[in-house]
Amino acid sequence: MNIKEMVHNLQKVLDEMGETFSNFQSESGLACLPGCGKCCLFPDVESTVFECLPMALKIHREGTLDEWITKLEKADHVCVMWEGNRETGAGKCTAYGVRPGICRLFGASGYYDKNHNVELSVCKLIKETYPEILKKVSEGRTEKNTPIISQWYSRIQSLSAPELLERRPMNEAILGALQLIGFYAQYQTLE
Ligand code: SF4
Repeated sequence: MNIKEMVHNLQKVLDEMGETFSNFQSESGLACLPGCGKCCLFPDVESTVFECLPMALKIHREGTLDEWITKLEKADHVCVMWEGNRETGAGKCTAYGVRPGICRLFGASGYYDKNHNVELSVCKLIKETYPEILKKVSEGRTEKNTPIISQWYSRIQSLSAPELLERRPMNEAILGALQLIGFYAQYQTLE
């Protein structure tokens, strides 16, 4: 496995994905509330080792891999990359440019229902803050104007080995990615 090439290809898709969902959210008016980072506090946010590889490679290149592994081994359910106030939810991602795919969907995104109609998955806070905008966007949603989660996940998964795609709580996925990068760093130059 050429891990550097794999991460490079994944990062390109993640960047495109982030831009697509971000444009949809800002153009539709269903963007995250200013300064809000509450999604990152949910214990059920899950990712995969594969999606966390860009973050792990960056950490390896910064020379702090062992430090992060130690931190993750002691972490609770809140993503270790999040910095902020747990009481209010105000905070930010310290790994924003290399965050996994799931983090690029937070806020508002599209999915297919069982009849293959496009539905919107929207954060509760955004729903409560912008009910009129949500109604309008919901009425006008189509496959063409709404990015669909499963389509983007298919692209991501097509780049990965199947064993790296098991969904895990966020910190376990990050830890798995760091351990994998640490393993490959023994045999390949990852700079
Ligand atoms: S990686 Fe960043 S955006 Fe994703 S859950 Fe962690 S802090 Fe939040």
